[in-house]
Amino acid sequence: MERYTKIVATIGPAVASPEGVMSLIEAGIDVARLNFSHGDHEVHQRYAEWVRAGAAATGRNVALLQDVQGPKLRVGSFPGGSLVLSPGSTVRCFQGRMLSEEPDKIFVDYPYLLEDVDVGEDLLLADGLIHLVATAKKEDHLEARVVVGGPLGDGKGVAFPRTNLRMAAITEKDELDLKFGVELGVDWVAASFVRNASDVRRVKELAGSAPVIAKIELAAAYENLDEILTEADGVMVARGDLGVQLPLERIPLIQADILRRANAAGTITITATEMLESMTHSSRPTRAEVTDVANAVLAGTDAVMLSAETAAGAHPRAAVEAMARICATVESETSKNTVVQSYLNQQAAVASAIAQAAVDAAANLSCDTIVAFTESGSTARLLSKYRPNARIVGFTPVETTRRRMALYRGVVAYPFERRDYTDHMIAAAEKFLEKEKLSKRGDTVVMVAGIPPNQQAATNLLKIHVIGDRDGGMVSQRSGRMSPEK
Ligand code: PEP
Repeated sequence: MERYTKIVATIGPAVASPEGVMSLIEAGIDVARLNFSHGDHEVHQRYAEWVRAGAAATGRNVALLQDVQGPKLRVGSFPGGSLVLSPGSTVRCFQGRMLSEEPDKIFVDYPYLLEDVDVGEDLLLADGLIHLVATAKKEDHLEARVVVGGPLGDGKGVAFPRTNLRMAAITEKDELDLKFGVELGVDWVAASFVRNASDVRRVKELAGSAPVIAKIELAAAYENLDEILTEADGVMVARGDLGVQLPLERIPLIQADILRRANAAGTITITATEMLESMTHSSRPTRAEVTDVANAVLAGTDAVMLSAETAAGAHPRAAVEAMARICATVESETSKNTVVQSYLNQQAAVASAIAQAAVDAAANLSCDTIVAFTESGSTARLLSKYRPNARIVGFTPVETTRRRMALYRGVVAYPFERRDYTDHMIAAAEKFLEKEKLSKRGDTVVMVAGIPPNQQAATNLLKIHVIGDRDGGMVSQRSGRMSPEK
């Protein structure tokens, strides 16, 4: 069953072997997420090698996504690894990340704890499971009442949803991790806890040439979504931390809003966290989870993501298979064109007009395939954002571009040698489509390119081509003979 929505799966201990990673690739993942909140460089290097080897062995296009931890605040540690907080009790919060020796003492690694957190403000610990309210400021600590208690493990996260925090966009660890990611040649970077466009810019400066996905997980990031969309190459609806920052019942509305605005801006979207959570222990998803994945597909997400389900779950392969089935079934029984996209006028104007016209033509002529000849992948992304019912075949001579396209909804990407003549390019594409049984003689396909070839020409050509019609009435353009249309 053909599937357009892409699957991102987190690699972790549950699949920590070449065979484990291979089983996810065979089950259909498009992007392997390396979560730098866990594991050291050696571990991630191994994961990356297994992903690259598995992709090469199966011939599948699998991108590597490096998810950097960002400035996540955490508590210190406790004797025995955890502390149980009882509702109604009072605790003392000190700045730092040390081992606490007393049962009412918690270290919190926010340097301005006493200056910035006011009496009456909330502290949410352990993904929001534990709720404290600040009741007094003392000379060297903050006193807080436990509203909702429970066990608090070493290093659990802390959020201050009502406090205006002073945070660096990038920690020292992130800097080292991003440098390592560049060496590893990751295809995408996801930036955690960004608040605005300048935070995203900072990550981009250190991410080499990798495009950056801004994780929308702080209330501030959601407030600044418009400016983030001008800077980021994609956004992730990071529902885990977002659900700590904002009331849980608002998350479905916020998700729909982020997807709508990001798609309208032509930006890549990933919907993440707890999508098939019960599959961390169960071999089948719940009805609610299936509906959640289906709704994200219907709302036009490019990709859906698995976290603990594949990284630490008992049924990693079954989780990917379930996700693939849900996406493909929803797409097959509805129009794949779930989102009607208006003209993407903030993007390259001519390329957007061509992409929109190509998608219209493919619909009017009931074409199964749109071909994009692309150097950077942006033509394929634009076509994808108009959400055609036809598959998009992205041909590129650039290996990093091919891998990046793994995340674009409805795009299948293949390597393609540069040709000097446009008609040679089209003939080679045609031959490939027939060989791979993507098209057959007599099929009409829509092709989009920048001509003359090999001149970095912006997308300027839309050709409606019948397979087998080798001349096709095409005026051949040769590199260097004509001035490129920009
Ligand atoms: C999230 O919070 O939803 C998320 C994806 O981030 P992480 O898994 O890195 O905490």
